[in-house]
Amino acid sequence: MSRAGAQCEVAIVGGGMVGASLALALAGTGRDVVLIEAQAADSATHSSFDERTTALSNGARRIFATLEVWEAIAAQAAAIRRIHVSDAGHFGFARLDAAEHDLAAFGYTVSNRHLGTVLWQALQRRGGVRLWNPAQVQAVALATAGATLTLRGPAGERQLQARLLVAADGADSMVKRAAGIASEATSYDQVALVSNVRCDCGAGDTAYERFTDSGPLALLPRGDGGYALIWTLPPALLAQLHGCSELEFCRRLQQRFGWRAGRFLQAGRRASYPLELVRARASIGPRVALIGNAAQALHPVAAQGFNLGLRDAATLAELIVGAQDPGDAGMLAQFARRRVADRSGIIAFTDRLVRLFGDRRAPIALARDLGLLLFDVAPPAKRALSRVSWGFGAAPRLSRGISLIASSRR
Ligand SMILES: Cc1cc2nc3c(=O)[nH]c(=O)nc-3n(C[C@H](O)[C@H](O)[C@H](O)COP(=O)(O)OP(=O)(O)OC[C@H]3O[C@@H](n4cnc5c(N)ncnc54)[C@H](O)[C@@H]3O)c2cc1C
Repeated sequence: MSRAGAQCEVAIVGGGMVGASLALALAGTGRDVVLIEAQAADSATHSSFDERTTALSNGARRIFATLEVWEAIAAQAAAIRRIHVSDAGHFGFARLDAAEHDLAAFGYTVSNRHLGTVLWQALQRRGGVRLWNPAQVQAVALATAGATLTLRGPAGERQLQARLLVAADGADSMVKRAAGIASEATSYDQVALVSNVRCDCGAGDTAYERFTDSGPLALLPRGDGGYALIWTLPPALLAQLHGCSELEFCRRLQQRFGWRAGRFLQAGRRASYPLELVRARASIGPRVALIGNAAQALHPVAAQGFNLGLRDAATLAELIVGAQDPGDAGMLAQFARRRVADRSGIIAFTDRLVRLFGDRRAPIALARDLGLLLFDVAPPAKRALSRVSWGFGAAPRLSRGISLIASSRR
């Protein structure tokens, strides 16, 4: 690497939920890390830390506990202890109880905004990672010994050299493009309409999932007593539901969902997300590693996108801490090898689930078995499910409760 500009060992581009988690995993390990994020972390219009609710698996809970932020996350999280699955137009339904599976909860929900706040506050408090925020990476040049980034921030343009460049910059990753890594995108021809809703009986610890002829509809309990609605629709229906009054929206939701959660009284801002699978053809390039949505962006039906991205981050952090030269070809090959089974397993699982959800011939029993997969556990497929919860392949140390700070001192 030439000596011009600032230098670091690891530059993480993108401080969304996955990039910020990687930075936190590396804080205090002695590695020289810069986290670059274009949006101010506390911005009200942040595209990652928005009104959405994320369902965290038990594996994610364990990683955050090892990073010592679970307590702060849990302060506004809701546990999912029961799941109710029903099929519109059929009488059958299924109820699942975490206690019957010897689990404290199937998973936990938390707002993206709260998760972002906890991660960034922890990064600011702990130190050990240089936070360049707001700063946008505009160009990337890759060479055998490292990467050179050109960034623009409030103080103008600057350069940064890194031995390893981590792409955590989302599905439309510019780092991925700069590294010449192609992506395959498959549209499901569906959109997810997301809103925070309230019913006359507050949300407890039950998540609902209802299959309808236009797509699945999920209600996840939130820590504030309301529900996060994720309504999967054909794009043609979206305009009607986006444009109608709150009262009309609640009426239509009631009609679709029924009364099992009570009467819908309020619906917050409605946002929609096109549903597609974007998969990078490779998770590494010379001096580059892809994590989170930059590597794979999934349909949210199985609530796996962030959980999978977090395991990318936890595995990469472990390899960075143990590497002589973070970003050398051997370390990167190891990262790709360690992630291949989990990535392909979860991508295939989510893709199959989306297609089965769309099949109206699927009987309630099948729907129930699949619905359970939404979070972690199903009695008929417990082993397969625990894989979905903890990931396929070797589990990262952080999800086994082993701190990387301790291993970096050895
Ligand atoms: C409706 C919906 C519901 C979901 N529910 C769940 C769920 O319940 N459970 C689950 O596990 N997953 C869920 N997901 C998936 C999950 O939200 C994503 O997988 C996750 O947010 C990806 O995070 P990320 O950090 O990889 O990417 P992003 O959130 O896209 O973050 C990328 C960051 O990079 C920054 N950036 C981009 N370019 C640059 C640049 N050039 N310079 C500097 N910074 C840059 C951006 O500002 C952004 O902050 C859901 C997704 C959707 C759409």
